[in-house]
Amino acid sequence: MGKMILASSNKHKMEEIKKILDKFDINLQSMAEAGLEGFEIVEDGETFEENSMKKAVTILDELGIDTIADDSGLMVDKLDGRPGVYSARYSGENANADTNNEKLLMELDGVPLEERTAKFVCVISIAFKNGEKICVRGECPGKIGFEKKGENGFGYDPLFIVDGYDKTFAEISGAEKNKISHRAKALEKLEEIFQDIAAR
Ligand code: IMP
Repeated sequence: MGKMILASSNKHKMEEIKKILDKFDINLQSMAEAGLEGFEIVEDGETFEENSMKKAVTILDELGIDTIADDSGLMVDKLDGRPGVYSARYSGENANADTNNEKLLMELDGVPLEERTAKFVCVISIAFKNGEKICVRGECPGKIGFEKKGENGFGYDPLFIVDGYDKTFAEISGAEKNKISHRAKALEKLEEIFQDIAAR
C-alpha cells in the first residue's frame, strides 16, 4: 500500500480525500500523524495553484513522502476576482466568516443581482517524490446575494446563491452541496488522475 500525506489540518477534507484514495489502496496520513502537528506554511502565493503546490512541495521536502494539498476561495467578478486567495482573511487579521461576509456585502453595495456573479474555486495539488506535480481545479458558479440566508455550511455559504438553485449554499443540505461544489468537482478530477496513474 502506498502512503500519502494530506497537507491540511481540516478533518472534513481529510475524510473526503481519504474516501477516494482508499479505492487506490493509498493510505492517507494527516500532518499530525506524520509528526508535523502545528507545522505552519505561509500561503503567500497569488493563485490557488501556487498556494496549494507550495504546501504540497514543502511537506514533500520535509518528509520525502508524496503529498496532497488544497487551496480554495471565492472569486467575485465585480471585485476583479477578490477575495480570491485572501478569502479566509478578507476582512483583516482577526477575520471570521461574519466579518468577511459583512465586508463582501459592503464592497458590493449598490451592485444589482445580475452583476454579482461569482465562483467558488478549489485547487488540489499533488507533489510526488519522483518529481511529478499535478494540479486539478474545480469551480462552482453562482451569485452573491444581498443578505445572508441559511444556517448550513461555513464561510461565504450564506451569501452564495448557487447557479441552478434559487438558494444559497447555506440553505441546501451538506450532502447536496457535496455533489455540486467546487471541492466535489476537483475531487472528481482527482479520482480520474488516480485512475490514470493506476492504469499505467
Ligand atoms: P481553505 O482553502 O480551507 O483555506 O479556505 C479558504 C477560505 O475560502 C475559507 O476560509 C472560506 O472563507 C472560503 N471558502 C472555501 N470554500 C468554501 C465553501 O465551500 N464555502 C464557503 N466558503 C468557502
